Amino acid sequence: MLAFSDVAAVFEEIEKRSGRLEMTDVLATLLKRADKGEIGKLVYIIQGILAPPYEGIDLGMGERFAIEAIASASGYTKAQVESSYKKSGDLGDTVEELFGKRKQTALSTSEMDVGYVYDAMLKIAKASGTGSQEQKIKYLVEVLNNSNPLEARYIVRFVIGSLRLGVGDPTILDALSVAKSGDRSLREPLERAYNVCADMGYVARMFYDKPESISGFHVQPFKPLMPALAERENTPKAITERLGKCAVEMKYDGFRLQCHKKGDKVELYSRKLEKMTSMFPDLVAEMKKVKAKEIIFEGEALAFDKQKDRYFPFQQTMHRRRKHGIEAASKEYPLDLFVFDILYLEGKDMTNEPYEKRRGEVERLFKGPVLLPSGMKMVKSAGELSKQFKDALAKGLEGIIAKDLSAPYTAGKRKFAWIKLKKSYGKAVDTIDAVVVGYYLGQGARAEFEFGGILAAVYNPERGRLETVARIGSGFSEDEMKSFKENLEKIKTKQAPGLLDYNVEPDFWVEPKYVVEIAFDDITKSPMHTCGLKEGKGYALRFPRLVRLRTDKAMKEITTTEEVVDMYELQRSRSA
Ligand code: ATP
Repeated sequence: MLAFSDVAAVFEEIEKRSGRLEMTDVLATLLKRADKGEIGKLVYIIQGILAPPYEGIDLGMGERFAIEAIASASGYTKAQVESSYKKSGDLGDTVEELFGKRKQTALSTSEMDVGYVYDAMLKIAKASGTGSQEQKIKYLVEVLNNSNPLEARYIVRFVIGSLRLGVGDPTILDALSVAKSGDRSLREPLERAYNVCADMGYVARMFYDKPESISGFHVQPFKPLMPALAERENTPKAITERLGKCAVEMKYDGFRLQCHKKGDKVELYSRKLEKMTSMFPDLVAEMKKVKAKEIIFEGEALAFDKQKDRYFPFQQTMHRRRKHGIEAASKEYPLDLFVFDILYLEGKDMTNEPYEKRRGEVERLFKGPVLLPSGMKMVKSAGELSKQFKDALAKGLEGIIAKDLSAPYTAGKRKFAWIKLKKSYGKAVDTIDAVVVGYYLGQGARAEFEFGGILAAVYNPERGRLETVARIGSGFSEDEMKSFKENLEKIKTKQAPGLLDYNVEPDFWVEPKYVVEIAFDDITKSPMHTCGLKEGKGYALRFPRLVRLRTDKAMKEITTTEEVVDMYELQRSRSA
């Protein structure tokens, strides 16, 4: 049994390291010590979660309640805890310090193992209904009463959602491989397994149970896959040079849904892999009619605007469903689902089959009226592709996605198997998705009431860090700015997000929660930002402005540092 005090000691060591290889080794030694029953729970704790996103288990403990629990477990008053927190800026450090000079010790303390701590956190997360906050506090006090100062540091950081070990998923996958085989040789099958079920705890359990079986890991219903992503190109010519003869699909600006069915059971998952089944009763009913007992497929859902004879854009589709109630909206704004891929069929994992074969199944199984195959045409030349692109724009769509005929479904990866060509690419304007990490107040007389803009960051998955890329002050209307500021005020934090590397400081830091789409003119190098920082300069957006909130994207799904660098290179080749 792995003692949680040992886990905490390793976390402390990891925090002191910065090199990925070093971190992998330290983590691997820890993972090696976990047994089959513990490994899944340990991996979730390292990820700072209790379950994969589609299970909807969220700790949901605010700092205020954690402070109450700390006061109760340490014997200090709430005011004393708060004042120490003000100085340290980190509630984990505060609890560690106060526990070091604890005024009261629990009557009986017992050593905690990983399973105990995980189960206790799960109990905290699951407390619901009236009086649940008191329950959560009580459960947290129980765990803290059994903790030494270092354990308390990590438990508190975990419950308030800021564990920030700086260990990204790639490092965990490497460490799992090293723990079992002594080297990184099993990283690839482990990564594939993770990409096709999005549940690192489950993968780790399987792997510890039967390490050799990880290579045969396959897709299964109700374990959503990480979505395949598209690369981008600027011109039809660049696409056909890469792919040769290829399929050109219409790019619908709808709501991406991954649909799972087995017998009578149906579940729908968003792009962020959250369960969306209850939002789409109309589509669920149609899915039950699909002539397949077991199937996983993907499509874009959107509503048709009969008056304008074109589809509503995504934002409007979702807005209408929320505003008018799901049942009513289903009737008034009926959705179509354009199916563009099949990932599993009658017990068979389809992800390794070439696109052409998967597309054949899409056309065989989906013939409308509601579930339809996405619009597709085979093209052989840049000229033909260009014609398809123009047709798509004429229909009010945002572009096309070209697909490599022989490529498998690349779960969780951005590959040239899919290449998008969007309306704006030919011009100077492009967009990225970034997470808001802080905001500024306005300048001038009423400065403190006004919104001066936001600081936004992209994600570097290799380093498991957020890196700033732009300060944005324009784009939203005054009303939008006002309501956005109100939302940001609710998630203000005293310190910068633990995952963030920064060179500039906004007036207020916020939890990295809201994802925004940002348009810009081009990318430059600047010492202000930490995106891809090298020799004192990072990449930064020039003339950035807000386009919209991306509620469909999770923090880890935002644009990556590598993509920003690619866009920079693409831009240089464009101007060359
Ligand atoms: P990305 O998904 O590449 O991170 P993004 O969310 O901004 O970026 P886009 O640039 O719009 O998305 O392009 C990819 C998205 O296009 C897919 O995630 C999917 O939701 C959508 N899409 C629309 N039509 C199709 C299609 N025919 N095939 C695949 N994806 C499609």
